[in-house]
Amino acid sequence: MSMFCDQCEQAANGTGCTKIGVCGKTPTASALQDLMIYQLSGIGYLAHQARRLGFVDADVNRYTLEALFTTVTNVNFDTDRLSQWIHEGARIRDLAAKRFREGARKADIAVDEGTWPAPATFGPAGDTDELMQQAETLAPAPGLANPNHPEDIRSLRRLLIYGLKGMAAYADHAYLLGHEDDAVFGFIHEALAALNDPGLTVDDLVALNMACGRVNIRAMEILDEAHTSRFGHPEPTSVPTALQDGPAIIVTGHDLLDLEALLKQTEGSGVRVYTHGEMLPAHGYPELRKYKHLAGHFGTAWQSQQREFDGVPAAILFTTNCIQKPRESYRDRVYTCGLVAWPGVAHVADRDFSAVIRKARELGGFEAKEGKTLMTGFARQAVLGVADRVIEAVKGGAIRHFFLVGGCDGSKPGRNYYRDLVEKTPEDTVVLTLACGKFRFNDLEFGDIGGIPRLLDIGQCNDAYSAIKIAEALAGAFKCSIGELPLSLILSWYEQKAVVILLSLLSLGIKGIRLGPTLPAFISPNILDFLVENFDVRPIGNAEEDLAEILGSPVDSNV
Ligand code: SF4
Ligand code: SF4
Repeated sequence: MSMFCDQCEQAANGTGCTKIGVCGKTPTASALQDLMIYQLSGIGYLAHQARRLGFVDADVNRYTLEALFTTVTNVNFDTDRLSQWIHEGARIRDLAAKRFREGARKADIAVDEGTWPAPATFGPAGDTDELMQQAETLAPAPGLANPNHPEDIRSLRRLLIYGLKGMAAYADHAYLLGHEDDAVFGFIHEALAALNDPGLTVDDLVALNMACGRVNIRAMEILDEAHTSRFGHPEPTSVPTALQDGPAIIVTGHDLLDLEALLKQTEGSGVRVYTHGEMLPAHGYPELRKYKHLAGHFGTAWQSQQREFDGVPAAILFTTNCIQKPRESYRDRVYTCGLVAWPGVAHVADRDFSAVIRKARELGGFEAKEGKTLMTGFARQAVLGVADRVIEAVKGGAIRHFFLVGGCDGSKPGRNYYRDLVEKTPEDTVVLTLACGKFRFNDLEFGDIGGIPRLLDIGQCNDAYSAIKIAEALAGAFKCSIGELPLSLILSWYEQKAVVILLSLLSLGIKGIRLGPTLPAFISPNILDFLVENFDVRPIGNAEEDLAEILGSPVDSNV
């Protein structure tokens, strides 16, 4: 059985995974996820028509976010659960169709269901095998791997679908915290509906992709509101990596609401909670770090989990992406929750973490071990709180340049570039970072410039909005555009959240972004030329040469 998936940076041979995903995604899981996208394009069509007539459905909105997020890289590998999503999608399709009909009735408009695109009338077959057969004939239709579309159209359709997946992830995190904006749902449905139009031109698709980037800024803004209103604004925080004696739960992924629930349920239990990967920035939030048993941070980025969790005497909770196949040495202590799932791994429903806590006690936990500290918590309010000093330092020449070195980490050797580059940044420069790519270099000693730390960890990939606000505020202070600031963006990508952040940055007109470790497989040569010509997007090269080009002079290592 074959498959085709090129949505992440690990795409096999730089083109796409065709036998099994490098991530571990099976052909069955891949086909079911593609079928979900097919189904979603139909739901999107119906929801878009209904919304135009003034009818919106909360269940349809929520399903759209969750189903898209489910298909993001390293989220859900469980074919039974994916089949359930498709069957639930049939109920949601009916709801969306009902809302459309209600809207049409109220507006006294006739609905000709014979004109609906095929995905809008899709009814899933019974079991996984039958769904697979449907996937084989139907799933490529809206543009994922449709060989009938010209290469550039296919490229832009995939860029849009992957952007929508990334946006849905951000919007879903906010939604779970009670924050939403119908403009975000409206755009996602409109874009899904547009995928049904076989006549979309390159210009149409470029416009849709730019709109996706713009709307994603709103999605990230809502998430920022959701996080800061519930957990407070992050504050600079020193996080120990030392281990303490006793039972422990390691929590990874991005979902702060899950972490908060876990902290509440473990309070006073003698079980300590350690963050892993993208959960590191959680320590900066006042309403999370007030829990004394939030003991520290364990390990580095997602791609090191199999080595870091090997035989670990702690329970491990995955809240969102990025999960890898658990090794036998720790499989029995892994738990997933929310949208993340791995076949055969225990899944926690309704944030009831009692089984995770029991497992942590049963395992006995860590023996005390010394460690270092990691700094985090330099989100927008913390950085802008010292904006006057930063501006003075720039005006006085103490700060020559800012680098935003952020994005996803991954396992490719080319990712050493980011450490090489950051290590060589001169001591009159400041490095802003976010997302799990920071684990390439956040163990280094950077020092400070007049009390301003040279390495500022803004937070998770979910906090890209904070980085944009910091750049906008600096641009405002210097009365220039972001592009005119002494700021270089050097991004690492891996999955679809990074794709939509790139679209957001492009939609803001930001040029000269360096992107690596490799360029997306789904970007065709002509679309790459378009990005180079219009946005000066460049692949990363040699760290020393890139730095010299950015700064206009050769550099010596200063870290
Ligand atoms: S998500 Fe990435 S690694 Fe997984 S199958 Fe798709 S391209 Fe391959
Ligand atoms: S930044 Fe991207 S690659 Fe890293 S853990 Fe988050 S979603 Fe995964």
